[in-house]
Formats: sequence, C-alpha cells, structure tokens
Amino acid sequence: MVELFKIGFLTVTLSDIIDISIVAFIFYKLYSTLRGTVASQIFVGLLIILFISFIAQLIHLRAVSWLLKLITDVWVLAFVILFQPEIRRILVLLARNPVIKKIFRVEVKLPTDIIVESAFELSQHQHGALIVIIKSSGIRGFAETGELLNARLTKSLLTSIFFPRSPLHDGAVVIKGDIIEAARVTLPLSQFTKWNDETLGMRHRAGLGISEQADVLCLIVSEETGSISLAENGILEKGFSKQSLKHRINSSIKYNQIQSWKSIFDNFKKK
Ligand code: ATP
Ligand code: MG
Repeated sequence: MVELFKIGFLTVTLSDIIDISIVAFIFYKLYSTLRGTVASQIFVGLLIILFISFIAQLIHLRAVSWLLKLITDVWVLAFVILFQPEIRRILVLLARNPVIKKIFRVEVKLPTDIIVESAFELSQHQHGALIVIIKSSGIRGFAETGELLNARLTKSLLTSIFFPRSPLHDGAVVIKGDIIEAARVTLPLSQFTKWNDETLGMRHRAGLGISEQADVLCLIVSEETGSISLAENGILEKGFSKQSLKHRINSSIKYNQIQSWKSIFDNFKKK
C-alpha cells in the first residue's frame, strides 16, 4: 500500500486512513444514537478502556496490557450484560418484522367490540383495569405470575374481574384471541414515570412497560379519573371514543407496523 507519511516510527498508509475513518464513523454513529442514555456512559467507558489498551500495546506496557486483555476477553459477555435492555428491544423489534410475523402467524380473532364495551363500562364506574391484548407471540412468563383462567371472553366476565371487591381485580388480565388467559398478572414497570407532563401511577407504568417488552396492546382504565389509555410499542395514547378505540385496536391487529429504530432510540432518550 502507498506510504503517505511518517510520524516518528509510525508509517501511515492510505489503507490505514480508510481503516481508521471507518472505525471512527462506526463509533461516532453508535455514540450519537446512544447519546443522552445511560448506555452512552457505559459506551464511553468501554471506549476509554479500548483506547488505553491500544496505547498500552503500542508502547509495550506488558502488565497493563495483560490486565486490559483480561477485560477485553470478557468483552462480549460484558457487552451483552450491560446492553441487555437495548439488545432485548432490538430482538423484539426484529421479531415484530412483518415478514417474520407472516411465518409464525397466529390467527387471532379478537372480539374487539366486547373489549371496548367492557373498557367503557369499567371507565363509567371508575373501576381500574389493565387489559393486555396479545398481538402475536404470547407472554407466558408474565401470565404465569397471575392466575391462569383460559376462559371464554365475555363482557360480564371481563367487567366482573375488575370489580374492586373481586379477588382477581388486582393486576392485569391477559387476552389472546377470544380467551382470557390469565388474571391478577404482574407486569414489568416502564422506566417512564411521566408522560406528557402527567405523572404515571403504577397501573399506567405497568401497561406501558409490557408494551415496551412484548408485542401487545394494553388498555388501561384509570380508577382515579376513569380515563382510558392504550399502550403499544412503548407509547401511551389517550382520548378515545368507543368508535376510535375499536378502529385503533383493529387496525393495529391487522397491520402490526414495525417501529423504526429511530423511534426506539428517541424513546430511550426521553428516559
Ligand atoms: P389509576 O389511575 O387507576 O389510579 P395509576 O396509574 O395511578 O392508576 P395506581 O393508582 O398506582 O396506578 O394503581 C395501582 C394498581 O395498579 C394496583 O392496585 C394494581 O392493580 C395495579 N398494578 C400496580 N403495579 C402493577 C404491576 N406491576 N403489574 C400489574 N398491575 C399493577
Ligand atoms: Mg393512582
């Protein structure tokens, strides 16, 4: 390769410049997508270790190199552990890809009418409710934290589960197709504690949380205000009429859109 210039004992060739530019570009892109998140601080830490280890090897600091090599040997493992939430979300998104969904398609005939009517009735009585609607793959691990029912979904069953004195009213109900799989389910909480300047209580954080981690729709009826919210892909929406809510649920079940990478990272930044 053509030798361009020398810095002391280092000769720099054209391929070195291209090489370094590509690596710099990759790091820059990674950093700019992660900027403002907790992951970015970890990333900067990793970069510093890489840099020191590079220098140590260059000037033959053997003991330091040895120590840093130990760290870089567990690099992949550390990477997976430290970036676990990010990797998890990226994998979930891959699985949400429409092509993959076609292959692993589960036919869901969702009785949207029953669910929406129940939600509005619960809202009228200001009975708090948390309803997870499974779109593709199930959430068995979470459903098992509650009580498995496998009962045919009807309006009277759904509304009576959330009757405040019912033994099953606490936690979430999981619906797959026209079956209520489980009740009293504990869901993972979202990191968000606020949404559009409104403080989120536990019910809303749990609804948002499961929508971040799984391919589901989640309806949340507030006990305090009777308001109905819908969480999907880590985004909370409010202010539905019966008609618009039915339409919203049906279209989401039909066209499970993929969320763009950008919007996930934007979501991360809001934290
Ligand atoms: P609301 O507007 O109905 O008051 P909120 O968002 O303010 O809702 P809280 O008042 O904290 O939430 O609601 C508490 C209820 O939320 C609990 O009684 C329980 O039923 C439910 N809940 C709390 N945490 C979880 C969880 N991790 N998974 C499922 N349900 C939960
Ligand atoms: Mg509350």
